[in-house]
Amino acid sequence: MSDAIVVLNAGSSSIKFSMFAVDGDALNLVFRGQVESIYTTPRFVVRDAAGESVDEMTWPESEPSSHDSALNHLLEFLEVHGDEYRTLAVGHRVVHGGVEFTRPVLMNAAMVERLERLVPLAPLHQPHNLSAIRHLIESAPGLPQVACFDTAFHANQPEIAQLFALPRELTRTGVRRYGFHGLSYEYIASVLPDFDSRASEGKTVVLHLGSGASMCAMQACHSVTSTMGFTAAEGLPMGTRCGAMDPGVILYLIEQRGMEVGEVEKLIYEQSGLLGLSGISSDMRVLEKSDDAQARLAIDYFIYRIGRELGSLAAALGGLDGIVFTAGIGENSVDVRERVGRDAAWLGVEIDSAANGAGGPRVSSLDSTVSVWVIPTNEELMIARHTLLALASRVL
Ligand code: ADP
Repeated sequence: MSDAIVVLNAGSSSIKFSMFAVDGDALNLVFRGQVESIYTTPRFVVRDAAGESVDEMTWPESEPSSHDSALNHLLEFLEVHGDEYRTLAVGHRVVHGGVEFTRPVLMNAAMVERLERLVPLAPLHQPHNLSAIRHLIESAPGLPQVACFDTAFHANQPEIAQLFALPRELTRTGVRRYGFHGLSYEYIASVLPDFDSRASEGKTVVLHLGSGASMCAMQACHSVTSTMGFTAAEGLPMGTRCGAMDPGVILYLIEQRGMEVGEVEKLIYEQSGLLGLSGISSDMRVLEKSDDAQARLAIDYFIYRIGRELGSLAAALGGLDGIVFTAGIGENSVDVRERVGRDAAWLGVEIDSAANGAGGPRVSSLDSTVSVWVIPTNEELMIARHTLLALASRVL
């Protein structure tokens, strides 16, 4: 029987999971899957390391699904299909670690309670991340669970990058910039030296463009600043989140338009971004296929804001050697990469259209002074690495 690490990433409407076999220091993917659209049309899909389908299931309409039932189904799958493996530990993606949690940590009920306090700072993700941990504390009490935080990679940013210009008392109590998507950036930082030593030793901006989107400025693969802040609603416009917005808008909506706080939360997290601008969809694939003027405007705004943030992050770095595109849109949208590259010509970026059309990995021309890469992210592998390391070094 081989040892394995299971990774769970519980989001607002999906639970993604992976199982990695442990072979010495190596982690080899066994299964990767998810339960998606938990509250609408739940579907369970699992593939093996070669991408072949292992199991698929669509919930019968008579059987409403929830995060708990999705997790139970997934655990049953692992019991049956993973019976050749002994699970050493489960690693979880936890979006917010606050000031307190800046490295992976072993979970218990008391830790979960401390992390509950951060729910208002990440309402789309944190409650689901924690409920998966709580579920396993109850159903598999002896099984070690390690929480890996999306904020941790940014914990050592220079102080000035972490500040809001608010009274110091507020900063001291944790009202500051944290940054997110840290597990994705950390994975990219871990593989960038294999692609480009100049970019990995120098000044690089990584664009994590998925349903959630952010950008991180890295100096020698360490986070210097990022577009996200106190919450994951800051920075770029996203699938349904608004990104950077004058805080006065929120006061106006509450005071003058009589909106309740919950309504404003729904507005900025679930009804804005690409969905709000287009009125059609939060999904870039749908918008790219549409010839509706509002869909085009939503994409134009997305590209425009990326360009502005790129200038800002290059200024924070004092130059630019490399750009990396990753996550759903970054890895797959030829058009978004082409347009972002074109707008960044003033920074010395020149995209090679043929290489870009072919998906890279290098998509910049030989004349480009900034190298541009497409590197698929792998947050699950990063979590599995942390989980294994935490077990081995017993820094739990
Ligand atoms: P998350 O993990 O945050 O749910 P992903 O990294 O999977 O998000 O990214 C989802 C986004 O990627 C969606 O907007 C989707 O439309 C976009 N995407 C996926 N494939 C493509 C593609 N071929 N072309 C354009 N956009 C794509």
